[in-house]
Parts: sequence; structure tokens; C-alpha cells
Amino acid sequence: MSFLHNTSSKSTELDIAIIGGGSAGITLAAKLSKFSAVVVEPKTPTERDCSWALWANSAQKKQFKAAIKGSWQQWRVVDHHTEVLHSSEKFHYISLSAAKYMAQCESELVEGVDLIRAAAENICTEGIGGSFNAAGQQYKAKRIYDSRPPKVSKDSLKQHFLGWDIRTKTPITNPKIATLMDFRVDQSRGLHFIYVLPFSDRRLLIESTMISKHLEDKEWYRQAIHQWLEKQDIEIEEKLGEETGVIPMQSLNPLAIKSGAIGAASGAVRLSSGYAFANIQAQISELSEGISRGDFSVPVPIGPFLNYMDKIFNGVLMAQPELGVTIMVRTAKALDADGFARFMLGSASFIDWAKVILAMPKIPFIKQIFLQ
Ligand SMILES: Cc1cc2nc3c(=O)[nH]c(=O)nc-3n(C[C@H](O)[C@H](O)[C@H](O)COP(=O)(O)OP(=O)(O)OC[C@H]3O[C@@H](n4cnc5c(N)ncnc54)[C@H](O)[C@@H]3O)c2cc1C
Repeated sequence: MSFLHNTSSKSTELDIAIIGGGSAGITLAAKLSKFSAVVVEPKTPTERDCSWALWANSAQKKQFKAAIKGSWQQWRVVDHHTEVLHSSEKFHYISLSAAKYMAQCESELVEGVDLIRAAAENICTEGIGGSFNAAGQQYKAKRIYDSRPPKVSKDSLKQHFLGWDIRTKTPITNPKIATLMDFRVDQSRGLHFIYVLPFSDRRLLIESTMISKHLEDKEWYRQAIHQWLEKQDIEIEEKLGEETGVIPMQSLNPLAIKSGAIGAASGAVRLSSGYAFANIQAQISELSEGISRGDFSVPVPIGPFLNYMDKIFNGVLMAQPELGVTIMVRTAKALDADGFARFMLGSASFIDWAKVILAMPKIPFIKQIFLQ
């Protein structure tokens, strides 16, 4: 066991340093014990608040209880022709307050694991460790885990969105159903859908979400939300907040992933959906178990088969964006609720995969297989 040790007035030696205290970094820090460690993060949880959603079983619902903003046993995918409604006993679609989740992890740090509220600068890696500066202090660590976000390349596929937290004038008709994708919106600029999480019968998170290479003006997403609300006869009483986000759906070159990268920086974002929270949780649990046994290597967050399948999916989407709605709706239709949750979580069974593959338009996918 070792603790923070000042080798000079300026340098502190550590077992482990974690750069970035977001989803991956602070989760790892909260699981560390028996090591001298720091997690370096310039922003407070409140400054980084957003909604993180995932399909959770009952154990995970308990685990994240303090941060859960909403939970739905039913979710739907809608286009002009179909509404696919899923109801599950086993999986609930839950939405977490990122700020509450990170604040809770920060409060769980044990003695010997310190949070430095500053940016890490002059990061120099040597083997698996290295040195850096933060808050005017120099640190040396035997092991560095780096969760700084990867750069988003301009021409890559992205999920980008603008969302509002609103209170409605009157109660909405079905607050127990989460709308994951409603495609009855402008599809002329890429795959576009409205995402709605009703936190109560009068409080909604509503987002206009695009999967395409290029971002739109904020006004464009706002118009889409306005038009959707108007069609549903939902009037806003108060707009409580607005959030925007860009999630890269590009595959990271495995050779370019830095040693010690964790979270999104290590390829934890699902290429076809932008979901990452569940993958990061699994990666960090495995990593922290490894660390306690003396194995400091970072587990791969998403296996090669899933990445390969997602790349084919993204390839089809880039080549023929007009097929996006069909692919999404057919996927939801082909699976029951539990199968859909497993599929989105990246743990689909052989039978789930067979059902999805059989439901897909064949020629575009076969073409993509040859282009990979
Ligand atoms: C708005 C938004 C909504 C999302 N919603 C979902 C969702 O609903 N479900 C889902 O599964 N996924 C979601 N994702 C994707 C993914 O889960 C998140 O991006 C997640 O935060 C990735 O975790 P991470 O730890 O890899 O990176 P981050 O959480 O981004 O953490 C990286 C941290 O590094 C810090 N940092 C940067 N530079 C430095 C530096 N020099 N020194 C120290 N610290 C530094 C940053 O401040 C940041 O806190 C969402 C992403 C975004 C952007």
C-alpha cells in the first residue's frame, strides 16, 4: 500500500493517475483503494450535466438509484407507417443525471485517492506511466489512465442533437412510454428523429437528433422540435433548459488508441447508436478487478465482431441514408423488448442477430460487406 509522497516541493509520486473525471475516469477512481491515486478533472459535475440513458436490469437500477431521473418499462419506435411498442419486465430504459452520478462517485473516493479540480497539462507518457502538471503541481505516476475525449474528425458520421427540458401546459397522453425514435420529421439532411423522455405527465426531455456527417444550425433542430410538438398538440408552458451534444460514431484506429486510454477514448462508444454508458461501466468494472489483482491493462470495451457489424451498418447509412428509417424500424420490429434491449446493449444472442439480419434489406448490406 502506498500513499501520496512528495519527492520534492514540486513533484508528487503516485501509483495511478486518471486524466479526466467523466463517466469512465470518475467511475474508475471511485473503485480504487489501496493505491495512491489522483483523478484530474477541471469541471464540476454540474458544469458537465446531461442525461445518460441505458437499458438497466434490476441490479443496475439499484446501483444507479441516486442518479435516476426517469425509468420506463415501455419504449417505442415510430415512423409514418408503424409504431413498434416494446414492454419489458426485465430491462427498464433509465435516464441518469450525469451530474448526480459523477457527484456521487466523487463523494465515494477513499482516502489516498484525491480529486484535483484542474486540467492536466504537459502530459508526458513513459511506458505505461508518466508525468503531468495540474494546479501548479507536478505529478509522476506509475500508471496513467487517460479519458480525454478523442478528436472528432470533420467528415465522420456523428450523432448530434439539441434537446429541451420543458414543462407542458396540459398533461401528455402517455407519460409511461419513452419515445426512442420518432422518424416523422424532416429526413432530407440525414437520419433524423425526435427522442422524448417523459419524466412526468407534464415534464419532458425532447431532442431533435441527427445521424449524419455535418452539424446543423441550432435553429434547425429547434424548428424540428416545435413542429413535432405542434403535431402532437403539446404546448409548452415553460422551457427549463436546452442541451446540445455531438457523439462521434467513427471507429478509432486500434493502433492510434493510446496505451492507458479508457472510456470513449478507448473506443467505448457503440458505432451504430452512440450509446456508451453501459460499455464504460463494464470496461471499468473489469479494469478495477484487474487492478486489484495486479493486472493494470485496459480491457477492450467493445469486441471486434460488434465493431465489424456496426461498421457495416454505418457504411450502409453513409452510402444510402434514405434506408436509415427502414433499418431502424425493421430492427425494432424484428425483436421483442428484451431482445431489443440486449441488441442495444451489445449483448444480443445468436437468435437476436439472426432475426435482425433476416429483417434487413439484403443488397445494401452485402455490398458493404465487400467494401469493408
Ligand atoms: C451530451 C451527451 C449525451 C450522451 N448521452 C448518452 C446516453 O444517453 N447514453 C449513453 O450510453 N451514452 C451517451 N453519451 C455518450 C457517452 O456515454 C458519453 O460521452 C460519456 O461521457 C463518455 O465518457 P468518457 O469518460 O469517455 O468521457 P467524458 O465523460 O467526456 O470524460 C472526459 C473528461 O475529461 C475531461 N478533460 C478533458 N481534457 C482534460 C485535461 N486536459 N485534464 C483533465 N481532464 C480533462 C473533461 O472535462 C471530461 O470530464 C452521451 C454523450 C454526450 C456528449
